[in-house]
Amino acid sequence: MTTLFRITGRFFKFLRSLYRHSMNEGKLVELETYVLRMNQCNECDRRSHIWCEECGCLVEEKCWWESEDCPLNRWVLKNEE
Ligand code: SF4
Repeated sequence: MTTLFRITGRFFKFLRSLYRHSMNEGKLVELETYVLRMNQCNECDRRSHIWCEECGCLVEEKCWWESEDCPLNRWVLKNEE
């Protein structure tokens, strides 16, 4: 049951991020920013395979989306850099 709650929670968090991304007109960050973000995620203990356990997002997608930030503030929104 715990696994079901975790998967459901992850799904709804991902939907929220997808909504923010679409409201931001699908804008992506530049490659340099993407690499900086991915470097943080790759070293993060909250990354679980392709997922961020904190926000439920697919890490490789999340790092491209301008509207996203890290819930642990390991990296910030594009307009805060
Ligand atoms: S978004 Fe933040 S919390 Fe999630 S894996 Fe990346 S660095 Fe970790």
